[in-house]
Amino acid sequence: MAVTAQQIDVFDSNETKAGNYFVSNYPPYSFWTTDRVAEAYSALDRAPDPGTALGVYLHIPFCRKRCHFCYFRVYTDKNASEIMRYLDAAVAELELYSKRPFIGGRKPKFVYFGGGTPSYLSTKQLMYLTDNMKRLLPWDEAEEVTFECEPGTLTEHKLRVIKDIGVTRLSLGVEHFTERILKLNGRAHGASEIDRAYGFARGVGFPQINIDLIAGMMGDTDEDWAYAIDRTIELAPDSVTVYQMEIPYNTTIFAEMKTAGNDVAPVATWAKKRDWVRLAFDRLETQGYTVTSAYTAVKDPNKTRFTYRDELWTGADLVGLGVASFSHVGGTHYQNEHNFEPYVQKLNGGELPIYRALTPSSEEQLIRELILQSKLGHVSVGYFQKKFGVDILQEFSHAWDHMRAWGYLSEEGDELQMNREGLLRADRLVHELFLPQHRDARYA
Ligand code: SF4
Repeated sequence: MAVTAQQIDVFDSNETKAGNYFVSNYPPYSFWTTDRVAEAYSALDRAPDPGTALGVYLHIPFCRKRCHFCYFRVYTDKNASEIMRYLDAAVAELELYSKRPFIGGRKPKFVYFGGGTPSYLSTKQLMYLTDNMKRLLPWDEAEEVTFECEPGTLTEHKLRVIKDIGVTRLSLGVEHFTERILKLNGRAHGASEIDRAYGFARGVGFPQINIDLIAGMMGDTDEDWAYAIDRTIELAPDSVTVYQMEIPYNTTIFAEMKTAGNDVAPVATWAKKRDWVRLAFDRLETQGYTVTSAYTAVKDPNKTRFTYRDELWTGADLVGLGVASFSHVGGTHYQNEHNFEPYVQKLNGGELPIYRALTPSSEEQLIRELILQSKLGHVSVGYFQKKFGVDILQEFSHAWDHMRAWGYLSEEGDELQMNREGLLRADRLVHELFLPQHRDARYA
């Protein structure tokens, strides 16, 4: 029986309820287990595939304040000496990796400082950290070095240091431009700090500045969202990322919902959030931007690349340093210890802090790439035939049939293309590609 586009929105539940919406990897994390950690060690002892790019991610888990919607592993109470202990642990972690056959001697194609708030670090801490990282695994051939920032932590001097360490993309976690909304959601920065930080960053001359927005923060309205888009356009960043607000279980918002016995989160409906992202993309397109994924618009697609995303979504190796970080090495997924002390202590004892792992089957690896690439809005049938020897048209015909019937998918030559309405629901639609045992799994 054909399913209509209206039906998918109904069975998706229009109200925002607790849980993860964003699909960042596959198979779901709940299938990665502690008894498979040996698979990660075996992968690290093998030689790498010479054609596969390597990336390095470092999680800096410190923030000035915890946002009410935050679901990351972050700490707001660590003093300078605890931060140094952490940085030393991260350097020790990279040193252990540099001695493994899979990593040693390789040059990362991309480096990513995520968080948390990497810009929470002082300039001295930053230089100490990056000098050591470069000594162990030089990133002089990296095409892209991304650094996430919270506007209120930036000074002109700090931005110069961030530029000098080699950062090519500064990603500003603006999220919204309305003071009331920033406050209501527990953001540490205020609206005036955005302009200040952006002005400094432009003056310093980063090759790419990205503004990160969230559609559907608590208290958002049509007027406020229109204002957020106006202000973004006025600043003219090289790229804009827009995410639809989700309320995972480990957020303050969910804790309050539970206490109050509320099932529905105090944020906009999914339909409203899609309207807002649609509006943002439409307005950015009228300003000459190009939408390059379910979350991204770029001013000049020839100049502004997202190497991190494009490499990861086509199977690059990724070494994830830091507490709770995720890695993907030689076909094995794993995650680090997700608490500060066990992470630091394992490294102090000379051991990699790997907590849980999974080596996906070849079918699961294919599905992983298919899911991630679908979020670009187009997948190449030939790519999957060549890499996995699988005709995805036939193998996943049930999923394509559904997406076609809902009006979100078409075929163009070698490509399956998701239209804008499909792209706005990409994280829901990709569940159609999941194996049955993964369909109801939690992404935690
Ligand atoms: S700034 Fe980002 S990482 Fe830090 S608490 Fe807020 S959402 Fe979480």
